[in-house]
Amino acid sequence: MTGRVITGRTKVLAVLGNPIAHSLSPPMHNAWLAAAGIDAAYVALPIEGDVFGALPALGLFGANVTVPHKERAAAIATRKDDAVTRLGAANVLHFAPGGDVAAFNTDAPGFVASLDQDAPGWRSRVNTALVIGAGGAARAIAWGLAAAGVPRILVSNRTEARAHEVCAICPGSAPWPWANLGDAFAQADLIVNATSLGLAGGPSPEWPIAAAPAHALVADAVYKPLETPLLAGAKARGLATVDGLGMLIHQGALAFEIWFGVRPDTQAARALLRDLLARG
Ligand code: NAP
Repeated sequence: MTGRVITGRTKVLAVLGNPIAHSLSPPMHNAWLAAAGIDAAYVALPIEGDVFGALPALGLFGANVTVPHKERAAAIATRKDDAVTRLGAANVLHFAPGGDVAAFNTDAPGFVASLDQDAPGWRSRVNTALVIGAGGAARAIAWGLAAAGVPRILVSNRTEARAHEVCAICPGSAPWPWANLGDAFAQADLIVNATSLGLAGGPSPEWPIAAAPAHALVADAVYKPLETPLLAGAKARGLATVDGLGMLIHQGALAFEIWFGVRPDTQAARALLRDLLARG
């Protein structure tokens, strides 16, 4: 018999969300587990309703958590990192015998790590960042940029009240009117789309990319397609870009390190996930 043998001692990890069948986390983590020779298996569980109270008793070793459960995940934690405390949302859980649940938010440092890898030197060049959106991704990105020391962060969102909520938890941030996005583009050294605009099959506006300075770095949280309309427009102007795959990979790599104390190969993951995305 060839391949990995799952036994009664195999550790089980899962990504919990709904919908979840599209998730790239199982292939990414299972490839890392195989490369590290760790006896564990990672699956996707489409969780419905609030079953989080029962999770610590299930015997899972660890979990990633995605939409719509990140707040529930934070609520069952007995220990939280700084980001979970500030954001009220967790995307990584680590279960210990006895009911201890440690919760982490690696979306925020994952986005920053993707900039570090794909746009080295960005920290010294970015004084003003524009974060577009105010959902879970935007909150994590804005907070991650603030924690990384970006002095000025503009947050612009269709529903302006939600931008105010993000700014309430991010030092150095201020809401920016959605109707005046072009002026925010003009001031930004870093522009990040953290809305679902540009997702394959969904709407995408005419981004005011012509207003961005020639030195601006442009990033997108959306990774399907890998080259979103925003990134395509930025590339056409010759601006540096960072796609959304890096955030996905780095939040996963930080989770893997929390669970197993091993830093996985992010470049190998990029090749694997690019291939899976290309197959559709
Ligand atoms: P979310 O909490 O549902 O937030 C959605 C955001 O998009 C809100 O700011 C919403 O504005 C905005 N939006 C949606 N439709 C819009 C429209 N027609 N016009 C203007 N704004 C619109 O979602 P999320 O979890 O933050 O995720 C946002 C995107 O990031 C998704 O595409 C997701 O795939 C991606 N993401 C990527 C990663 C990664 O690792 N690369 C991680 C997380 C998320 P309103 O507040 O006005 O509704």
